[in-house]
Amino acid sequence: MNILVINCGSSSLKYQLLNIDTNEVKVLGMVDRIGMPNSKITHCVANRKKMELTVDIPNHDVAVRLVLDSLICPDNGVIKNLNEIYAVGHRVVHAADKFSESVLITNKVIKAIKDCSVFAPLHNPANLAGIEACSSYMPNVPQVAVFDTAFHQTMPPRSYIYALPYEVYEKYGIRRYGFHGTSHKYVSLRVAGILGKPIEKLKIITCHLGNGASIAAICHGKVVDTSMGLTPLEGLSMGTRCGDIDPEVVLFLMEKKNMTVQQMRNYLNKESGVLGISGVSSDFRDIEKEAEKGNHRAQLALDVFTHRVQKYIGAYVAVMDGVDGIVFTAGIGENSPEIRRSICKNLSHLGISIDEEKNNTRGQELDISTAQASCRVVVIPTNEEWMIAIETKKIVKAKEIQSA
Ligand code: ADP
Repeated sequence: MNILVINCGSSSLKYQLLNIDTNEVKVLGMVDRIGMPNSKITHCVANRKKMELTVDIPNHDVAVRLVLDSLICPDNGVIKNLNEIYAVGHRVVHAADKFSESVLITNKVIKAIKDCSVFAPLHNPANLAGIEACSSYMPNVPQVAVFDTAFHQTMPPRSYIYALPYEVYEKYGIRRYGFHGTSHKYVSLRVAGILGKPIEKLKIITCHLGNGASIAAICHGKVVDTSMGLTPLEGLSMGTRCGDIDPEVVLFLMEKKNMTVQQMRNYLNKESGVLGISGVSSDFRDIEKEAEKGNHRAQLALDVFTHRVQKYIGAYVAVMDGVDGIVFTAGIGENSPEIRRSICKNLSHLGISIDEEKNNTRGQELDISTAQASCRVVVIPTNEEWMIAIETKKIVKAKEIQSA
């Protein structure tokens, strides 16, 4: 059963065609620089030469058409006809509190995604453009929306309410929503398997440490708190995002530097984080290299990052009254033994102790704890596409059974 997974960003489109029954990724690819000069499609089929094509791609509709053409192309394609696609799963960033599960896309769902664009002005319109293009080119193929916010909908009000006048929650929906939900869900299910216990019996902290980074406290399978908020700006310091700061800093700087709202938004989202502190790069590989050479601001950027991850872990252990497992995932979590070591360094009182040799792993699933550790630390490569495909199959099958 083939599921096409589509992840539209503001100027990119990532895609995978998966056979969900055989665990096979038939194609993975990416369209880059949509709406800019030199847009490009990269299309990779297992055991075949990667196909790259630089071609004018003015919008997401053209990008989707190109992806579909590549899938059925006699030379580089893997299917003969688009009818061989059972369903399409779309990553959608923001659903506010409108959906706590993935859903089959209908006009009502499209309106809800549009309504949530105020909180994700770059992402939701791009996600919608992908949905609309796929629906028009494959009108008979079911489309499913899988939301980044959905998994976090189990948070209790004490975790998601900001200490602002309550009316802003009621009037505008201003509260914590959380993101990377698909990744947090995937790795929490995997770690339960690795620890050999039902997720309903476990207290887990999942650390999704990539360009964007967030942590979730998952108690007995349900998220009880997470570090990102109304938008993906809150929480940890990230590649270019500031994470938690005193809100007064924003007001001070806007006044001092005479900045507009848009300039400030850019400053906090694109010029801050480890890039802002180090002045070197937003990429943790560059920062680690510079820090090794003795660049003290690069080292400071790493210290701020690891310190904040530790703080959140401590807070979430308190919130859950214990922890059985900590998961590291995403680009940094999967690939940086040094950052994992720094984070785990002061956590021995929580029963955390990592095995240096095992920690020296990159990009593979592994319990890196020592035998005597009471809280397991596990590296799990995330697989959001796989999770989206599983959710998509589940929703479409349920609908089929319902209408049978
Ligand atoms: P996103 O999906 O949010 O763009 P990723 O999960 O791909 O992000 O993570 C990207 C980050 O992972 C980059 O900052 C990159 O520096 C970091 N990263 C990738 N490989 C390594 C590595 N070997 N060591 C340290 N950091 C790494």
